[in-house]
Amino acid sequence: MNNKELLKELPAVNDLLTRPKLVAELQRISRDFLVDVVREVLEKMRQQILSGGDALPAVEEIERQVLALIEHKTRPKLRKVINATGVVLHTNLGRAVLSEQAIKAVADTAAGYSNLEFDLDAGQRGSRHSHVENLLTQVTGAPAAMVVNNNAAAVLLVLSALAKSKEVIVSRGELVEIGGAFRVPEVMEQSGAILREVGATNKTYLRDYQAAITDQTGLLLKVHTSNYKVVGFTHETSRRELVELGRKHAIPVVEDLGSGSLIALQSLGIDVEPTVQDCLKAGIDLVTFSGDKLLGGPQAGFIVGRHDLVQFLKRHPLARAIRVDKMTIAALEATLRAYLDPDQAQRQIPTLKMLMESPEKIKHRAQSLADRLKREAPRYLFNIIPGKSRPGGGALPTTELDTWLVEIKGGVSSSQLAGRLRQGEPAVLVRIQQDSIILDPRTLLPGEDEKLSQAFSQCIMG
Ligand SMILES: *Cc1c(COP(=O)(O)O)cnc(C)c1O
Repeated sequence: MNNKELLKELPAVNDLLTRPKLVAELQRISRDFLVDVVREVLEKMRQQILSGGDALPAVEEIERQVLALIEHKTRPKLRKVINATGVVLHTNLGRAVLSEQAIKAVADTAAGYSNLEFDLDAGQRGSRHSHVENLLTQVTGAPAAMVVNNNAAAVLLVLSALAKSKEVIVSRGELVEIGGAFRVPEVMEQSGAILREVGATNKTYLRDYQAAITDQTGLLLKVHTSNYKVVGFTHETSRRELVELGRKHAIPVVEDLGSGSLIALQSLGIDVEPTVQDCLKAGIDLVTFSGDKLLGGPQAGFIVGRHDLVQFLKRHPLARAIRVDKMTIAALEATLRAYLDPDQAQRQIPTLKMLMESPEKIKHRAQSLADRLKREAPRYLFNIIPGKSRPGGGALPTTELDTWLVEIKGGVSSSQLAGRLRQGEPAVLVRIQQDSIILDPRTLLPGEDEKLSQAFSQCIMG
């Protein structure tokens, strides 16, 4: 048979639609959807025949492909992945993992009605912000606080409300870009504020800020260089100097702290990182930071500081557009509550637990993970080697944490194996280092060792 004749032998759409296995699919998908999938599979086969394929696929094979395509199209697109990269706050993998308490709070709130905007004591309309603001002021020591959708929104609101058509003075060393298109100059433009850059990339002195102040100045802005560090010959104007300058001219001083840690991480061998409390103590008028970076909560942005400024921000029209939903509030309340006692926070919040896990414990876990994997794949080689994990998430860019890794050698090439692991069920994300697969147990959640080794054994079989 030539190609044209083969094409004629392909079954018709209607014939395929009578096959029992496909009819059974109509329990969960619509007829139109099924027809579309059948057409797509037939079209693919037509193309294969036209481009020289000389065999007519059996009808069972066509049916199998239709079922596979339905499965592919209907499986959830947002899926769980196992993070074996050792990057604790991986922005592409959803940043912070919530605590058990936060997960329960989200589930409870999502499943029923709540007093989201209802004051149960007074029996009248309440504020959705009230639930977390007291906790925020308690744990940060700020006079007032406000929650919005994320830190980018917090910065946008502050600039729009306090500096529209006015100049905002920022050091040239702090004009950051955070992944996902948050760029200080562009957010500034969007807000209607006018960027007034001062100093040089590596050195900005108090006198540079001083010289730029005019009656057009709306804010002095300090931005945390979250994902890079300027090293070498540098000079940064201190918070206290900026605060003093701002006070003298009655100009508010705002700091975009980015990650916003609430507990002093340097005690755990992590680089000196200013806490939110440090900024407030230095006299910064407003501090903004993220909920899902070092804090370890859901995506959110916080604005904490001067009472009059926060009240003004709350009444700005933009505040309504960037407000948080009830599930976020539930997760935030549970997360912030843990911080009432820093020890409790370190026990409950997965981000903090992962950052603070001791290398000895990780080594132990690497060993048992390697043993487990060896049983699944005796022909592969598993070594336990020392290495480094990263905090990630645009936080602590130069901090590396000592860890122990499982190095996998053997079989197919490491990039091929990494690809299979990524596409497996569950998906596993790994590192590749000198053509070996590397697993860092630091970011594995409890119980994931077993799922990881099952996924691995499927990958090397398939
Ligand atoms: C991460 C970060 C942002 C953006 O915060 P999101 O919560 O991701 O919107 C803004 N500024 C700085 C300095 C950051 O580190």
